[in-house]
Amino acid sequence: MDVKRIDVVVIGAGQAGLTASHHLQRTGIEHVVLDRGDGPGGAWRHRWPSLRLGGVHGIHDLPGSPLPETDGARPAADVIVDYFGRYEHDRQLPVLRPVKVDAVRDGGERLLVDSSAGTWAARAVLNATGTWDNPFWPHYPGRHLFTGRQLHTADYRDPQEFRGQHVVVVGGGISAVEHLLEISEVATTTWVTRRPPRFTTGQFDGRAAVAEVERRVRVGLPPGSVVSATGLPGTPAVRAAQQRGVLDRQPMFARITSTGVVWADGRAQRADVILWATGFRPAIAHLAPLHLREAGGGIRVEGTRVVAEPRLHLVGYGPSASTIGASRAGRAAVHEIRILLRGDQERLK
Ligand code: FAD
Repeated sequence: MDVKRIDVVVIGAGQAGLTASHHLQRTGIEHVVLDRGDGPGGAWRHRWPSLRLGGVHGIHDLPGSPLPETDGARPAADVIVDYFGRYEHDRQLPVLRPVKVDAVRDGGERLLVDSSAGTWAARAVLNATGTWDNPFWPHYPGRHLFTGRQLHTADYRDPQEFRGQHVVVVGGGISAVEHLLEISEVATTTWVTRRPPRFTTGQFDGRAAVAEVERRVRVGLPPGSVVSATGLPGTPAVRAAQQRGVLDRQPMFARITSTGVVWADGRAQRADVILWATGFRPAIAHLAPLHLREAGGGIRVEGTRVVAEPRLHLVGYGPSASTIGASRAGRAAVHEIRILLRGDQERLK
């Protein structure tokens, strides 16, 4: 078997992977970035066309290259695909795609990265695979009985698909609110969440929430959602929708029937569509051979370094799962990897 030897493999070419690649390149560390996407953009490549740049919370710049001034009405996906594509091209970052990583294994002195383009033997691995490839569908009784359409945020394209229908939107995060604002213009909706949503009135401040997620991953718990701790931004569009009654939330239903949903008290709602805006989980199935999960169900991470496998860093994971967090984490991870590789060299002398 042809095994390619290299210092560092970065898995994923989203915000986190490109930032890491930039810092590795600047530091002169030989590396390759393996990305399963058909083209640049990371998860943004797949965001629904009606998600406009002006409607997202703000996208942090890639290092050394500000996001160009652009019309806020352009689809965020198009803007970011162009921006990331130019960044990779202009800096000649060593991105290979489409290359899907299937497994990372412990090969003794090196970590072995098995992919659709062969195996790399690396001294360190930076995992930057985000969450988009792992949509979370919770289990509710009767889900398989429903004869209407069920889809996840990951499949959502255009509100016009639901014109004239009744859509039950499940989930208490920002994606659910975005879907409701759009769909309610062309269809009737019901919003269900597990907990009452909390809308913030002031400036959106994620610091406390990020600190909580940081605490969770340090003790090996699953990261959890940043929004559950920050609350939902109460933008003018949200306030207008509240006045229209669109954001009158119902508690979670107890079960699903062939024609809709039923609550514990017997109330029922007919539905044509159930849209699961129930979030994403880290896309890290390929790390399973390393057996990193702790008793709490998560991976213990200090900064970006995996405690049980210090040659592996997770960037864009937990507290760094935002464009600003991913950028900072990419830089911090490369700093640590540089020290790790230098230590290796000393040991081998
Ligand atoms: P991604 O962008 O997901 O990139 C991961 C890359 O890894 C992808 O290219 C993928 O193809 C590749 N990959 C995955 N698995 C493999 C594998 N096995 N082998 C090879 N390649 C693989 N954050 C903000 O800061 N501001 C916002 O406004 C904002 N809006 C958002 C809106 C929505 C609807 C969602 C869902 C998220 C939003 N976020 C926002 C969060 C933000 O998108 C992410 O935190 C950030 O873009 C993730 O960057 P990343 O590099 O970690 O991952």
